[in-house]
Amino acid sequence: MRKSILLLFSLMVIGMITYSCQKETLETGNEIPTKVIEQLTAMGFNPDGIEKVDEGYRIERDIIITEEFLEHAGHEHRVPGVEQYSTNNLVSTGGNRVITMYADEGRRGYSAAMIAGLDEAINRFNAENLSIAFQRISNRNQADIVMTRLSKRDERRGVLGSAGFPTSSGDPYGEIKMSGILESAYGLSTNGIATIIAHEMGHCVGFRHTDYFDRSISCGGGTSNEGTAGVGANHIPGTPTGASLSAKSWMLSCTDGSDRPFNNDDQIALDYLY
Ligand SMILES: [Zn+2]
Repeated sequence: MRKSILLLFSLMVIGMITYSCQKETLETGNEIPTKVIEQLTAMGFNPDGIEKVDEGYRIERDIIITEEFLEHAGHEHRVPGVEQYSTNNLVSTGGNRVITMYADEGRRGYSAAMIAGLDEAINRFNAENLSIAFQRISNRNQADIVMTRLSKRDERRGVLGSAGFPTSSGDPYGEIKMSGILESAYGLSTNGIATIIAHEMGHCVGFRHTDYFDRSISCGGGTSNEGTAGVGANHIPGTPTGASLSAKSWMLSCTDGSDRPFNNDDQIALDYLY
């Protein structure tokens, strides 16, 4: 009983930190060029709370938009209000591709609990027998995706992770910035940690948020629909109309820290893309 209350408390803290930092971002305002905001809106992204970060811009809490991505965001697509979306850029597999990952371990890197979460996330993708597979390696220089700690400031203010979308040349996004305190500060289980890491891996290979068209589905608050015209939110055939919190897609915008293994629609979407 005591344990569940503590977990609930931690999750409330996550929520409060997130909300307060979004508010702070909105109030202080960032120096974001209007053109960038217009471009993101046209692509169906929600630019509320956009932040300038080293790699480019951070939106929808955890998506990194690089200059490269903005440059190559070309053609018009209709954005339907239904479930499961991908960006235009996907990872080229040539039929079969192993995506290697590296994560710092130890004092300045990740705890054993975080590494266990990463390994579980990798196992989940590999269990789907896709044309992409993931493998953790010990050489940073040979890795396609490097998982590094968020800044201490971001970790303290409750950012959980961030990642971007595949490059125009068909490579996965190369960096996941992940909080290192998911277990130590929030008490998340290996499966809870794996869910968040698998979510960021999903962005790296081209998944958008399942509920990107109305983030209030998983984040609460008011309805926030980004509009009807844009680029790069392609509905994945075979996945249903609408998104729901109860279906617990691993690509929902907001997490409550719980375990969200791939549901049936997630599996259809993974299988369709890879
Ligand atoms: Zn996300």
